[in-house]
Amino acid sequence: AAYLEQIEKTDRHIGAYLTVTAKEALAAADAADTARRQGRAGSLCGLPVAVKDNICTAGVRTTCASKMLADFTPPYSATAFKKLQAAGAVLLGKTNMDEFAMGSTTENSHFHPTKNPVDPTRVPGGSSGGSAAAVASRQAPLALGSDTGGSIRQPAAYCGVVGLKPTYGAVSRYGLVAFASSLDQIGPLANTVEDVALLYDAICGHDPRDATSAPRDYTPTRTALWQDISGLKIALPREYFGPGLSAPVKQGILAAAHRFEQLGAEIVETTLPSLDSALPAYYVISSAEASSNLARFDGVKYGFRAAGFTSRDEIYLKSRSQGFGAEVKRRILLGSFVLSAGYFDAYYKKAQQVRTLVVQDFARILDTCDMVLSPVAPTTAYKLGEKQGDPMQMYLGDVYTVPVNIAGLPAVSLPCGRDEQGLPVGMQLIGRHFGEAQILRAAHHFA
Ligand code: GLN
Repeated sequence: AAYLEQIEKTDRHIGAYLTVTAKEALAAADAADTARRQGRAGSLCGLPVAVKDNICTAGVRTTCASKMLADFTPPYSATAFKKLQAAGAVLLGKTNMDEFAMGSTTENSHFHPTKNPVDPTRVPGGSSGGSAAAVASRQAPLALGSDTGGSIRQPAAYCGVVGLKPTYGAVSRYGLVAFASSLDQIGPLANTVEDVALLYDAICGHDPRDATSAPRDYTPTRTALWQDISGLKIALPREYFGPGLSAPVKQGILAAAHRFEQLGAEIVETTLPSLDSALPAYYVISSAEASSNLARFDGVKYGFRAAGFTSRDEIYLKSRSQGFGAEVKRRILLGSFVLSAGYFDAYYKKAQQVRTLVVQDFARILDTCDMVLSPVAPTTAYKLGEKQGDPMQMYLGDVYTVPVNIAGLPAVSLPCGRDEQGLPVGMQLIGRHFGEAQILRAAHHFA
């Protein structure tokens, strides 16, 4: 009830939610209370959670912040959400995002932009901007986001909260509306590393319904947070400090490195030569996969259907023209282009080769070091509207986050200071595959 009251009071100004499930939440909270009294409390018993609106919730509208799915209510739930419910969590509502998770500001939502709770004239980041803003404004203690190229970590950094992009395959993608299937992962956002670990422990695990889900043991990360971190080797690639990095973020990262040394870790200077080519490779690969994944929205099976058609082709044409926003169309066009005969080798194949280089760069570093310390975004949160007319500027902001998805690695984003305007600066710790426990532990000691 307290969280619903906070939503009622503040979301008019923030716009974090697209749907608030108030009645159902109170009923679920009562049920959780009964379970607790009967000694059947799960790990998240009674804890309210906000869920990004590209994660399917049976019976609750799931829009991907698109006109295309504005009236779509899925008949089934994503595995990650089912696991939350099984652990006793209570759904507060569905959070705003960039349409189909394409964007970095949550301004690409068909419904309304979300504002940064730290400074409402600024963007909260994206695409999981609603989830990050909900957590930052205490409209939810826990939230789920999705991260294809930074969409959990960057909004966490802009709003001053903690977010985890899990290892590819650690959290089931079943029921997550696909953007780029080889990069997408669902992950947690919260105010503390411990809460993020708690939520991650509840959603990870093998799922036979996702062919890329990893069958392995998932040992709890939360109980390992207090273990010692002295002797940890943390790599710091020098390519991160190129001309694009703003002074406050640079200072934040260097101060964090210093702090880790004081905590007993060793900072190792290294190189990540593929950093610059990872960004264009990401936009080629993610758009190629998006163009294929979004072909299903044809106005026939489900979703928006335009009125006034005279043929089947016209249903497709009108429904897709009217149902998708500008950024989604841009990605579909770009993806179709790089996959087309004659251009495939020059773009898509090249991007896949770059992908291998990125994988190899990280493998080399993580062979001798335990994790990588990195900025999350080149700057702190910028003004609403500032980059909206310039997609290329927007894309350039993803330079530090996309290599992690390309290599399928886990990374936790957490605050490491503030700039002179009081805006949060974020850093990320990138770990080995399935090394969530280790990066969360380092983050926990740092925070
Ligand atoms: N900003 C990136 C993009 O627009 C990442 C989005 C994401 O992680 N979903 O593609």
